[in-house]
Amino acid sequence: MRLRDGTVVVALDVGGTGIKCALIRPDGAVVHSERHPTGAHRGAEAVVDTILTVAEGLAATARSAGLTPAALGIVVPGIVDQARGMVLWGANVGFRDVPLRKLAADRLGLPTALGHDVRAGGLAEARLGAGQDTEHLLFVAIGTGIAAAHVVAGTAATGAHGAAGEFGHILIRPGGPPCGCGRSGCLEAIASASAVARRYTDLAAAGPAVITAAEVAQRAAAGEELATRVWREAVEALADGLATGQALFDVETVVLGGGLAQAGPGLFDPLRSELRDRLTFHREPRLVPAALGDQAGCLGAALLALDQLEMS
Ligand SMILES: [Zn+2]
Repeated sequence: MRLRDGTVVVALDVGGTGIKCALIRPDGAVVHSERHPTGAHRGAEAVVDTILTVAEGLAATARSAGLTPAALGIVVPGIVDQARGMVLWGANVGFRDVPLRKLAADRLGLPTALGHDVRAGGLAEARLGAGQDTEHLLFVAIGTGIAAAHVVAGTAATGAHGAAGEFGHILIRPGGPPCGCGRSGCLEAIASASAVARRYTDLAAAGPAVITAAEVAQRAAAGEELATRVWREAVEALADGLATGQALFDVETVVLGGGLAQAGPGLFDPLRSELRDRLTFHREPRLVPAALGDQAGCLGAALLALDQLEMS
């Protein structure tokens, strides 16, 4: 399909607490953005209705600005069957077997793509962000949990069941701390931002009530003993996970995103060194911070929508 001047796609990145949305031009330029609360406590049906209403509002905003909304891209967390346009399961938003692509396409009358938030983020980093000019990339988002996207030649692998990239559930410490998935010793039970904060708080004798992973990183950088220990455990666990990732995928570039990746050299310097120690015959990947911040998911949603147009 040839895109006219003034063409935009409507992009939505649905998270557990907020929906990031934008109107995005085919070259990746964001011409308008909005945020809305997800209201996940209201249940799946209400969340779906909010998604559709917000998407409709964005399409109307585009038209009133003289732009032409040509397609819609929606990305969500959980297990997403991209080919069938179904959200099979989403813990944060309570989705189960929701045919979201069809619901949205019917309501807006636009070609619609449905994808997974982290895979879309990886796609955006690969095509527009820190992984440009890289054919083989692993994007790892470290926040409340840890998830990844393996992007090859501009396409993120979905897996046979829409569940590829559950990097946080690599078993790295058998018998270790309990994970939200029901098992013990998963990577995200040790190295996610929430795990780092929890571990520090648990070990601090007369510790502060609440401390974030970023504060643990700062205290570690300042030489505090307990923070240094907790941070080192997280970095070592991440290095174990990334070494496994490199054995599986043999990528050129690993892009780290999410809140924890903002720790800068305090994360990247020791992580590079620990990863190097764990690699034997595998080539060391370039390890870089994400470039698109929290816009990655929205940009990825737009790319999926544009890909859909190109195929039609
Ligand atoms: Zn797990």
